Amino acid sequence: MPQPLRYAVFGHPIGHTKSPRIHQLFGDQFGIALTYEAIDAAPEAFADAVRRFFAEGGRGANVTLPHKGAAFALADERSEAAVRAGSANVLTRLADGRLAAHNTDGAGLVRDLAERHHVDLRGRDMLLLGAGGAARGVAWSLLDAGVASLTIVNRTPATADALADAIGEPARVRTRYWQDLAGIGSFDLVVNATSAGVLQQSLGLPPALVGARAVCCDLAYGAAAAPFLAWAQAAGASRAFDGLGMLVETAADAFELWHARRPATEPVYQALRPPA
Ligand code: NDP
Repeated sequence: MPQPLRYAVFGHPIGHTKSPRIHQLFGDQFGIALTYEAIDAAPEAFADAVRRFFAEGGRGANVTLPHKGAAFALADERSEAAVRAGSANVLTRLADGRLAAHNTDGAGLVRDLAERHHVDLRGRDMLLLGAGGAARGVAWSLLDAGVASLTIVNRTPATADALADAIGEPARVRTRYWQDLAGIGSFDLVVNATSAGVLQQSLGLPPALVGARAVCCDLAYGAAAAPFLAWAQAAGASRAFDGLGMLVETAADAFELWHARRPATEPVYQALRPPA
């Protein structure tokens, strides 16, 4: 009997991950037998743990906090999206044993907003809160999807400036200081790419950021997204979403890279969605 194909997600901590369930549900759609482990690796142990996993027959791995930069660094080849973000959330073992790095965060978010939630991104003035790994993963994709302007605000301003410089479109992309948030106007797309929710910290956002037809989105999901979504609704957002759909979409991209088949994401999204 053939051994099931072996996959994993690396993170630290990793107890909260939904990725094993998502990949099992995708595999079930095609009758693919696979194992998908959650591997907790401290930063200093990450590179060795990844090499061991692939040396022992691993086919592919997802990578989450805090390892996305390290995953990018240890790969032998890198997709354009990974190079732009400087980080990777997918590692794939190639036929010759080398490792390929991909970053599917941006494509996943755009598909979740545009296809699942039918949000027309074109022409929107967008506020991006945060400039860490996830913000870098989604910024280019949202610009490619047609947002008119991108304002990046990060608690540490230098990181926002570095992202704006890397994008290199001064006519469309600007940065502002966090302490000036109350006076920078309103937006019709607000994306929270900070980890404040996960860390149970308050963002203290002014309601004036939310424009009349604004869509608000937190990349975090579940309880971590609840404070931002409550703020968005209280501030008058027309719609507000958490990052669960993005997570399922990014997983589908990884699955397709590994199995050359495109899983249906909606049934998996519905299976994971807590009842309203
Ligand atoms: P990083 O650690 O790389 O970046 C964290 C960002 O949050 C930084 O910009 C940091 O600012 C900011 N931040 C942290 N705490 C606060 C605070 N109290 N007030 C203001 N800003 C703060 O994390 P990631 O970018 O990888 O992840 C960010 C979020 O996105 C997480 O919630 C993560 O779960 C989510 N995510 C969701 C995905 C999905 O598929 N749905 C995929 C990837 C990420 P500073 O630079 O000043 O430290």
